[in-house]
Formats: sequence, structure tokens, C-alpha cells
Amino acid sequence: MNGYRGARTAVVVGAGVAGLTAATALARDGWQVEIVEIGPPEATSGWGLCLTGPSLRALDEAGLADACLAEGFGVDTITHVDVNGERAGEIRLPRLIGARRPAMVGIARPVLHRILRAEAERCGVEIRHGVTVAAVEQEGGPVRARLSDGTLREVALLVGADGIRSTTRDLLGLRTSLDFHGQMVWRALVPRPSWATGIHQFAGKTDTAGLVPLSDTRAYVFLTENGVERSVLPDTRLAPRLQELLETFPGRVREIRSMVSGSESVVRRPVLTALLAGAWSRGDSVVIGDAAHAPAPQVAGGAALAVEDGLLLARELGRHASVGAGIRAFVGRRTRRCRTLVETSVAIVGLEQAQRHFEAYPLVDSCHRLMAEPA
Ligand SMILES: Cc1cc2nc3c(=O)[nH]c(=O)nc-3n(C[C@H](O)[C@H](O)[C@H](O)COP(=O)(O)OP(=O)(O)OC[C@H]3O[C@@H](n4cnc5c(N)ncnc54)[C@H](O)[C@@H]3O)c2cc1C
Repeated sequence: MNGYRGARTAVVVGAGVAGLTAATALARDGWQVEIVEIGPPEATSGWGLCLTGPSLRALDEAGLADACLAEGFGVDTITHVDVNGERAGEIRLPRLIGARRPAMVGIARPVLHRILRAEAERCGVEIRHGVTVAAVEQEGGPVRARLSDGTLREVALLVGADGIRSTTRDLLGLRTSLDFHGQMVWRALVPRPSWATGIHQFAGKTDTAGLVPLSDTRAYVFLTENGVERSVLPDTRLAPRLQELLETFPGRVREIRSMVSGSESVVRRPVLTALLAGAWSRGDSVVIGDAAHAPAPQVAGGAALAVEDGLLLARELGRHASVGAGIRAFVGRRTRRCRTLVETSVAIVGLEQAQRHFEAYPLVDSCHRLMAEPA
């Protein structure tokens, strides 16, 4: 593809949820698409995520929801448990892809990526690993992207889908806030207890924890640690420290805690949010997914926004005569929804930090309702 030209050619930076979805949707519309991904193949971290109704709806539009449901664990409820280990309530989420299919699915990240990647490749997308875009020029003509391997691409469209720390965003000179909120989030893969047929969320004295089923045999534990500095722990400290944090929870968390010692897959990440302060695009280049808007993980909405972005970018480009007009229509359609979700997620983080968990739940609920509206 070195140096190719043409009206419907694109380079997508990043083979994550947004990049793979956008590339597939563009390729289905007849675009010639190349993805440049900085990581090696199969590098996706091993924890899972929850694809909420809007994610499933968008994946269904892409013909991929059933594959995710077949390999994940479908759920309909979130059970809230209070600090004493007593059941405090249950939220039953709407089934957005029809009464016969579940409201959400817990799925291992590598499985989701495998499904998305296989579809992109089936649609003719070329995925190159170990490369990135090193420089971008666009003075009225095509986008000229110089790759880190020294080769040049001249394309009609450049899509930055390179996640929350996007360097494409920097190359395009787009301003963003990337904020740390005094929380670290933990994830660990554990065997699925038989009672974990829905999502459970446990309020603790300081932190919150939960469990999401991923398959008949596996689940992931999550824990949000409040009031901490951003730091990195050595791998050998991860499982013991997570066990210590879970020690303060009563009830079913005790059972989960005992499973963490055997987990080889414990990860700890800072809670970061990002939101573009102004434009999402420059010329015929645009950023999407977490590169444009990354909510805190508490609202489980980032993947939904990423899939929606990918589909809607392709749709608006298909509806407009020029790439610039398509990008403008896309951004116009997305700004409010994405901003509201990111800002609400930041408010939820603040309430959690203040130990006002039960005030945070209605906000989480409002995010689910916002996201249930058509994108
Ligand atoms: C702990 C945690 C839990 C979460 N849980 C959920 C959940 O349950 N449900 C949910 O909906 N969302 C969840 N999210 C959010 C969700 O993971 C993101 O919103 C989503 O992955 C965004 O997709 P993306 O494609 O924009 O970015 P990413 O998935 O981050 O993908 C970016 C890709 O770009 C690549 N890349 C990075 N830099 C470059 C570069 N310079 N050049 C080329 N390639 C590059 C990366 O290697 C990666 O493959 C969670 C987030 C975190 C941190």
C-alpha cells in the first residue's frame, strides 16, 4: 500500500475497538483501509470488559453481536450490595437488541479483539503491527502520513483511533484534557462462582468492588481504589495487594478474595478520563474513540462510544460528497453524547471519592439511559 492514492483510501491508527470497527465499516463501504498498530499481534491485556446494551446494539449493526454473545456471558442485571454485605437493590437493564437476547455481555478483551480483527481482515483491511504514524502533513491535498518505518502514505482520510494517550491527536495539534482522579482500578480473572449469573457491585467502606461473568467458567473481579497516588506496583505485589483491599468487604467478596491468590492475571491501572477541549479534526484527519473522549470505566461506556464512532464515521462519510463534510457531520453528531458521558463519569468518580456511593448509582443509571438513546 506504500504511496497509494485515491479518493477512498484511509489509514487508521490503532487496532483497538474504535480502529477495527471504523476500518471494517469503511472497508464495507468500498474504502481501501490500512491499520497501523504500534503493538504486536495478540498483545491485548487479559482482563475482560462489559459490553452494555448500546455496545451490543452497535455491534449488532456491524453483524458481530451474536459472535460476542456466543463467546461471552450474557447478563441482564446489576445487583448492588451494601457495606454490610446485604443486597441493596437490583437494576434490570433494557434489552436493546430484542427480547430474545440479553441486555449486556461480559467478554474477555482478547476474545472481543479477535472477533473484531477477524471481521476487519475478512473485509479486506490490512493490519500492520509495530508501526505508527510519525508525521502528518495536509495542505489542501491528500493527507500525507509518514510512518515510523520511513514509508509514506498519501490518503484521503486519516483516523486516529490510538486510545487515551493518542499521539495522532498530538500530531494533529488537537487539545485535550487527560485527567487522573485519585483512583486506581483493579481487574483479576477468576473462576466464575455459580451464583455470578449477573453483575454484582459491592460497596465497601473506602473502595468499591464487583464481579462480571465472562464465560461459563471465568469471571473478572474489579475493584476501584479511592484516594491513592498514581503509582506502579511490581507484578509480584499485585495479587497480594488486591487480596488486602478485598479483605475489608464482607459477604460474597470473601469467596472472591480467596480466588485472587491463584489469578495470574491481575492488572492495576489509573482511572484516567480524556476529552477533547475543542476540535476533533484537522483537515481530513479525525480522532475517534478514547483518543477523543474517554470516560471513567465506572460507566462501562467507552467501548460503546468507540464502536458507535467507527460505524457513524463511515456512515457520515458515505452520505457526504467530501471527506471534510463527512467528518464535520460525524463530529456534530457525536459531541454532546460523548461529552455528557465523560463529564457524568467524572461526577461519579467524585461521589465515590466522597464515599457517597448511593448517590453515584443514579448517575450510573442516567448514563445507561443516555446511552440507550439512539446514537
Ligand atoms: C480498566 C478499564 C476497564 C474498562 N471497562 C470497560 C467496560 O467494562 N466496558 C466498556 O464499554 N468500556 C470499558 N473501558 C473503556 C474501554 O476499554 C475503552 O473506552 C475502549 O477500549 C476504547 O477503544 P479505543 O479503540 O478508542 O482505544 P483502545 O482500546 O485503547 O485501543 C487503542 C489501540 O491503539 C493502539 N495504539 C496506541 N498508541 C498507538 C500509536 N501511537 N500508534 C499506533 N497504534 C497505537 C493501542 O495499542 C491499541 O491497540 C474500560 C477501560 C479501562 C481502563
